[in-house]
Amino acid sequence: MTWLPRTVFTAEHDLFRAEVRKFYEREIVPHHAQWEKDGVVPRSAWKKAGDAGFLCATMPEEYGGAGVDRLYSAILMEEQARANTSGPGWSLHSDIVAPYILNYGTEEQKKKYLPAMAKGDVIGAIAMTEPGTGSDLQGVRTTAIRDGDHYVINGQKTFITNGQNADLVILVTKTDPKQGAKGISLILVEAGMPGFTKGRNLEKLGMHAQDTSELFFSDVRVPVSNLLGDKEGQGFYQLMKELAWERLQVAISAIANAEAALQWTVDYTKERKAFGQPIADFQNTRFKLADLKTQIQAARAFVDRCLELVVKGELDAASGAMAKYWCSDLQNSVLNECLQLHGGYGFMWEYPITRAYADARVQKIYAGTNEIMKELISRTL
Ligand SMILES: Cc1cc2nc3c(=O)[nH]c(=O)nc-3n(C[C@H](O)[C@H](O)[C@H](O)COP(=O)(O)OP(=O)(O)OC[C@H]3O[C@@H](n4cnc5c(N)ncnc54)[C@H](O)[C@@H]3O)c2cc1C
Repeated sequence: MTWLPRTVFTAEHDLFRAEVRKFYEREIVPHHAQWEKDGVVPRSAWKKAGDAGFLCATMPEEYGGAGVDRLYSAILMEEQARANTSGPGWSLHSDIVAPYILNYGTEEQKKKYLPAMAKGDVIGAIAMTEPGTGSDLQGVRTTAIRDGDHYVINGQKTFITNGQNADLVILVTKTDPKQGAKGISLILVEAGMPGFTKGRNLEKLGMHAQDTSELFFSDVRVPVSNLLGDKEGQGFYQLMKELAWERLQVAISAIANAEAALQWTVDYTKERKAFGQPIADFQNTRFKLADLKTQIQAARAFVDRCLELVVKGELDAASGAMAKYWCSDLQNSVLNECLQLHGGYGFMWEYPITRAYADARVQKIYAGTNEIMKELISRTL
């Protein structure tokens, strides 16, 4: 299928993409159906990604990364979406968790965690959401109360990506429970600390190979040196800093997955016959697919422009929010139409369109719901 040529990537990026694509075809696609049954991606796959240099690639070389730009991260996300393998929580680990440690961690924290994360030896998670609060982050109730040289942590988190595998959790806590945003602090908590337990690996509509979990904290004593940043109460502002990039990540995978789904559907409709002709020949099919292709192309141009800005560190929060909501909505509508064109086969789990349809639904919910995105955009009117 032809698309407008993309101008954001160099020849080096293209070589990297070819390598990533081969890796997905060889190491991920053949195992993904089993991992969906297991509800988790095994640590051995994380290690392979680490060995290949696909984890934390944008981190500086002194901390185990390759010091490359965020277009390399975008390529990893696009290839994962194209391969239709939603299990590995690598972008969250590499492009959300690791940057917090790089941006706010002490030298000691960076040396301890980042090289191990780049190798796939330490798996990262970030825990904001609680059973009682998601969108309204200021309402978190997990507390970290200072007691001498330690914080004592109590609370509960849910829906945490990489929750079962996690060795290191960036935990959103209230160090001052009387305050709202100003009382929030980010604290590094390691798996195995007494009082930290992992709860259920949650059963979900889609993304079956992702270990989305509950986490529990009961009188967990953490040294005060595990605070991320130099003083308490900075957590909310720290969480805001990279939001535009974090939200663009959803848009990047949404468009790549929609493109892939369109290709599967073109192929399927050319093969499948009804009333003596390929269903691709019905005007309804051709017009539907033409419409979807046009919408994907327009979205791709917007996301590529956002990518250019992200590399320069200039993407603003509202544009990141627009990309997140608009592209995840588009992904869902593309998959819905493509599924329809597969007829009954589109309802069968063995077909990629079915899995993609189930996996895509959450893109409108996590990383800030699409309603919250519109709230943010409306503030810039
Ligand atoms: C698969 C998966 C993975 C996830 N991974 C993580 C993770 O790794 N770490 C983490 O911390 N969280 C994670 N989450 C949680 C996710 O970020 C939250 O579910 C999301 O932010 C929404 O919060 P909520 O579920 O509490 O919904 P609520 O905030 O209760 O929202 C319910 C509905 O109300 C709407 N609403 C809320 N406030 C407003 C408003 N002001 N105006 C208009 N409408 C509003 C919402 O848009 C939504 O439609 C994950 C969730 C899922 C499903």
